[in-house]
Amino acid sequence: MKKIKLVLMSCCAPCSAGAIKQLADGEFPETSDFIVLFYNPNIYPQTEYQKRLDEQIKHCESLGVKYAVGDWDHNNWLEYVHGLENEPERGSRCSECFKYRFKFAQQWALENGYNAIASVFGVSKHKDQSQVDTSANDTISKINYLPIIWNESLRSEINKKAGFYRQNYCGCEFSFRKV
Ligand code: SF4
Repeated sequence: MKKIKLVLMSCCAPCSAGAIKQLADGEFPETSDFIVLFYNPNIYPQTEYQKRLDEQIKHCESLGVKYAVGDWDHNNWLEYVHGLENEPERGSRCSECFKYRFKFAQQWALENGYNAIASVFGVSKHKDQSQVDTSANDTISKINYLPIIWNESLRSEINKKAGFYRQNYCGCEFSFRKV
């Protein structure tokens, strides 16, 4: 059987910590290799993007896990979701946002020798895993999409100890929450 070379799409360290630990510990023996891909042009403003990226890199480097970073093409992302600005979180803007990032990930995986994609986009309590999976299945056709449900208690245990920088909104300017 062909071994899986997985691209794990991550939006931030707190969401990805459990998944990275599971993959690094070899919980998925059919996966021979994995890399964390941080491609999040949806995040606004750029200072916030940089904070999440820095935390992601710090976490990957502390574990010796490979990572790659895509461009912060926020203006293109804004054009892509134009007309959906007033949609609620988990609405159609989010479906398109997932698709935008999955499309990039598929191309990136093909160009870099990976044959499967998974993500942690659905792990937050504000997210809907089935919506993430639908967006992925609508977008990823040339390689495999793995709809993995990550271990939530492991993620929360790591988060309690790690003291990661933690944001209080999903990412885009339309998802700011009142605190
Ligand atoms: S709320 Fe999050 S998933 Fe939805 S469009 Fe904004 S950044 Fe993307």
